[in-house]
Amino acid sequence: MDLEFSKEELAFRDEVRSFAQQKLPAEIREKVDQGRPLTKEDQVRWQKLLADKGWIAPNWPLQWGGTGWTPTQMYLFDDELGAAGAPPVIPFGLKMVGPVIYTFGSEEQKQRFLPDIVSSNVWWCQGYSEPGSGSDLASLSTRAVRDGDHYVVNGIKAWTTLAQHADWIFCLVRTDPNAKKQQGISFLLIDMKSPGVTVHPVITMEGDHEVNETHFEDVRVPVANRIGEENQGWTYAKYLLTHERTSIANVGAIKRTFARVKREAAKVTSGDGTLLDSPVFARKLADVAIQITALEYTMLRILSQVARGGAPGAESSLLKVRGTEIQQSITELLMEAGGYYSMPFVAEHGKAIGPEFTARAAANYFNYRKVTIYGGSSEVQKNIMSKAVLGL
Ligand SMILES: Cc1cc2nc3c(=O)[nH]c(=O)nc-3n(C[C@H](O)[C@H](O)[C@H](O)COP(=O)(O)OP(=O)(O)OC[C@H]3O[C@@H](n4cnc5c(N)ncnc54)[C@H](O)[C@@H]3O)c2cc1C
Repeated sequence: MDLEFSKEELAFRDEVRSFAQQKLPAEIREKVDQGRPLTKEDQVRWQKLLADKGWIAPNWPLQWGGTGWTPTQMYLFDDELGAAGAPPVIPFGLKMVGPVIYTFGSEEQKQRFLPDIVSSNVWWCQGYSEPGSGSDLASLSTRAVRDGDHYVVNGIKAWTTLAQHADWIFCLVRTDPNAKKQQGISFLLIDMKSPGVTVHPVITMEGDHEVNETHFEDVRVPVANRIGEENQGWTYAKYLLTHERTSIANVGAIKRTFARVKREAAKVTSGDGTLLDSPVFARKLADVAIQITALEYTMLRILSQVARGGAPGAESSLLKVRGTEIQQSITELLMEAGGYYSMPFVAEHGKAIGPEFTARAAANYFNYRKVTIYGGSSEVQKNIMSKAVLGL
């Protein structure tokens, strides 16, 4: 196992670093730094800058706009952009449905959908979960009934992130209610402008509009919008979930927000010095710093295996669990550094009355409760790991 970067890899890292320094708009970096939500325009603006450089879809096949990078280059790319304060790309098109379309879609579907995803012209959202089906996703009940060359779709998709901006949604629907539950599911691409689709906002506890419920009432969807074979959707869905989990850890962004906690804590007085001199706070910081280093080396070890021809399996669950737990610890440390001023009722209309960083400290603390739930909850990831390790 070789954990050192080669000369070429270090040169590549420098190229990414200077790209981010030159191209990442300052106002977007500032919002990311302060944990403020980005608008659709911010997100599309940054994604188009990446697309112009040819770096928007590194893991895609070259033919469809990929880069042909090694796994190590992809890691360095994510690490540098995270460290520069760049927002992660919205994953639904680029990291989820895109790979499903180029792997399992028809030639016509590839031509129709992939170019618009790569150029960020079309916004996608994910319609997997339902009010009664989250961890046990295969129990989903949204129905699609065949009617000539269309399906008629009825049901509710829960937690549809950013569906209020979406042009298209990819959905798991039940096409055979009599088959074993994993075997009666199909994968449909649905135009959000179709009659019968409605989006209902769900306001999360920090007060933001990030998620929705999306309802389908007699929505007619062309059979041509089905990916692959009827009733084989579960196979495509599982493929997508592994992609989703590996990208959640986000070590570069973790390192940047951790550095911010240290910077802000250094400005907070505590006794004769600052918070950094407080043994209790310093011990907590050291604990998280050690966990970040361990996560980074675990990531590099996995990459080193992948570079030698292996494929990540249950390891993606390990990265998801540790990465998200660390992200939550960092939001807790920032709350703690702000003390009283971090209390949600102290900030008025998003404006801090204490140190500036406290304006969104509570909001981000609450928002980050989601990371150990979405993409498969920590408990479910631990089941996957225990099966892999213990064979239970
Ligand atoms: C902010 C946010 C955004 C989301 N965005 C999307 C999206 O865009 N599209 C989408 O399709 N979905 C989305 N989700 C849904 C997400 O994938 C589900 O919330 C998740 O899979 C858990 O399902 P659930 O909420 O139904 O909880 P449940 O499955 O009901 O789980 C409840 C609790 O029981 C535990 N549990 C369940 N089964 C087991 C088991 N077998 N062993 C041990 N413990 C278990 C869980 O860990 C959890 O603690 C989002 C969720 C959140 C919170």
